[in-house]
Amino acid sequence: MNFIYRLQESYNRFMCGRYGSDTLNHFLSFVYLFLVFLGFIFRILVFITKSVVLYKIRYALYIISLIIFAVTVFRSLSKNLTRRARENEAFMRLWGNWQPYLHKQAKNAEPKVRMFVRKMQDRDHIYKKCPDCKAVLRLAKKKGKHKTRCPACGKLFEVRVLFGEK
Ligand SMILES: [Zn+2]
Repeated sequence: MNFIYRLQESYNRFMCGRYGSDTLNHFLSFVYLFLVFLGFIFRILVFITKSVVLYKIRYALYIISLIIFAVTVFRSLSKNLTRRARENEAFMRLWGNWQPYLHKQAKNAEPKVRMFVRKMQDRDHIYKKCPDCKAVLRLAKKKGKHKTRCPACGKLFEVRVLFGEK
């Protein structure tokens, strides 16, 4: 018998009669990993800023991620199968109710994300909002103060460009 097979066997024996994984546990694992990732970012921020508030947030994230990890492990090792299954059903119902809302949010965010990517790629222009009609204008990226006229409403306004060609 090879090692992997023996490991698989003993794992199966250990998990026999235990709940194992479900959608809720997958979701919790995802949240856990996300919090670990956030914690990592906060760690860097705390290191840079030496901020006590950020340190506290980081600490809170750490505690929450530990709790979520403990709950996930507890659920997968639990022998109370009916109760765990009921929790999962409740979660799926909640998830089902939330999905249209999440879809709507994603749809609303899509143009903003696309605009952001466009701005990042377009190095020769800057994007400024007209102070009057809020139309977004695409202007040549030339360093200094310029006067420009909004093509949408005709308002003359001043634009200051900090970085760019002279
Ligand atoms: Zn305008």
